Amino acid sequence: MSPHSQEQDNDEQNAFDLQLKYLFGTLKKEQAHTKDVTSKLGIEKVFEQGDAAEYFEKILSKVNPDVSKIFQGHLRHTATCSISDHHVNSDEVGPFWTVPLSMEDNNYYSVREGFEDFFKSSTVSGDNQMYCDYCDGKTDAILECKMEHPPEILTLLLKRFEFDYNRMSYVKIESCVEVPRRLQTKNCDYELYAVVDHVGSLRGGHYTARIKPYDDHNWYVFDDSYVRQLNSKPFEQVESFRSQSAYLLMYRKLDSPDRQMNHGNDHKSSLSDSQLSTPSCSFETGASGTKEEERKALAPQKRQRQSFSCCQLPPHRTSHNLSVTGTRTGVVP
Ligand SMILES: [Zn+2]
Repeated sequence: MSPHSQEQDNDEQNAFDLQLKYLFGTLKKEQAHTKDVTSKLGIEKVFEQGDAAEYFEKILSKVNPDVSKIFQGHLRHTATCSISDHHVNSDEVGPFWTVPLSMEDNNYYSVREGFEDFFKSSTVSGDNQMYCDYCDGKTDAILECKMEHPPEILTLLLKRFEFDYNRMSYVKIESCVEVPRRLQTKNCDYELYAVVDHVGSLRGGHYTARIKPYDDHNWYVFDDSYVRQLNSKPFEQVESFRSQSAYLLMYRKLDSPDRQMNHGNDHKSSLSDSQLSTPSCSFETGASGTKEEERKALAPQKRQRQSFSCCQLPPHRTSHNLSVTGTRTGVVP
């Protein structure tokens, strides 16, 4: 890449950062529009189908790397021959922006269990045996994925949109998921602070987002031109909630003493992790009739990211040209 094109990239990134900053700055005071942001993302027909996860990664590809790296972690993928732990035939570390969790079309799916399963080793055998350089032949192999570097913001993608080979088309998995307030990796604690929801079908649906800002103890729902405070605070009484609409889950890392302290203040009335209560469908899920929305901050990812982050293709209809009105608590008449 020539210095000139690098400079252009930097200018574009700075311009995009400023547009986002301006958007959210305006949003605190008055009606704001997302047109500048969506046009920078190359979205012309705002009612065309799009995928929130793709747009999320597209935004990350357009902002300054210092910003996007907050969302970036690294995964280590290894393939080891089952004959010996020393026969490591593949060992790759790569960046990821989202952790894709495969769902089955059941009535219930536990995000915590799905997250843990993602990092469990698996054995491939039979027709799927892999070539071992040390054994000079095909053997069973153990595949492992480890979190090499945990991101500041951990984004989980619930793969609700999958290809059904029986129907030879994409389908939406409507399973109810149990979303925990806290997640743990080997060295980090994470706390949920944003949810992108999708209601509706594969062909026609609606995104909303629920977000708890850093500087606020309340949750807000972003729903097209509405931004309003949620009446019920999720996790006030329980440590998890159930949702049929959750699609992207964003967790922030609680690793510093400062954040831990703030976290404690935020949840004076909440239960400890050991006091798990039966999750309810609170948090204004689709079941309560409240439409939740996505902030649509999302877009197609860079090629080199695809091997590690999941890409669900299926496009659902969504209006990108959000006209967000008022202050966080303001409601459009
Ligand atoms: Zn071997």
